[in-house]
Amino acid sequence: MFASLLVTVALALAGCVSAAPQKRALAQVYSKCTVPNTVALTFDDGPHVSLHAISDALSAAGGKGTFFFNGNNFGCIYDDANIERVKYAYNKGHQVASHTWGHKDLSTLSWDQIHDEMWRVEQALQRICGVQPAFMRPPFGNYNNLVREASAVRGQKIAIWDFDSGDSLGVSAQESKNRYDTVVRDHPSTILALNHETVPTTPTQVLPHAIQKLKGAGYKLVTLAECLNQQPYQWVGAPQTKDVSNLFSSLSHAPYSFETGELEVLKASSC
Ligand SMILES: [Zn+2]
Repeated sequence: MFASLLVTVALALAGCVSAAPQKRALAQVYSKCTVPNTVALTFDDGPHVSLHAISDALSAAGGKGTFFFNGNNFGCIYDDANIERVKYAYNKGHQVASHTWGHKDLSTLSWDQIHDEMWRVEQALQRICGVQPAFMRPPFGNYNNLVREASAVRGQKIAIWDFDSGDSLGVSAQESKNRYDTVVRDHPSTILALNHETVPTTPTQVLPHAIQKLKGAGYKLVTLAECLNQQPYQWVGAPQTKDVSNLFSSLSHAPYSFETGELEVLKASSC
């Protein structure tokens, strides 16, 4: 009797073990804002030379934007000028988020490759700003279930858009302005707008026009997180430092410990 019970239990356990592999959760995908009367202006592919102009234009309008940064696309995020740009955006209250490391099409990559693209830029944002972003935007807007699973494992949500200024598609600045005019005329409750830091006419021509039209139509210019009523970061700690003499003062709050051997000064990092 006891022996047969044991066999039954053993079989039941074996049944559990051999069951189909557990399905991983899929990250939530957002292509629309949810808070009425908000516009989230987002800027991809930086950090780049236009960041200050974009940040200042938004600030002058009493607005905020969101920067989806790459680690190594148009430039290396660890270059001095780019570290300064990322810090500038963060310190001005804009949202910083992940556009992955090298701007690869994630939907063509393996599980390990996807994580590699994700964690390297997250590490850069941890080091530079002390934040772990809650949002990522896949390059080209391309994702599949593997990308959604990887994002969910990393605690992140995927951000797409519902309005494309067209600036990275080669349309003229005038056409981008026309697109903003059209969407303002249609007046949806919310707008989640795709723009690119790396297109020269975006900060000089398109953005000033867009800001004026959107504000004139009564929209609030907010971060992506604000337009979704969510937190921009999974956690916020202390950034690392480029100055060794300041390193020890930041140690107690740094996201890395001596034990892991991962704590480095920023200047030791490269692309
Ligand atoms: Zn991009």
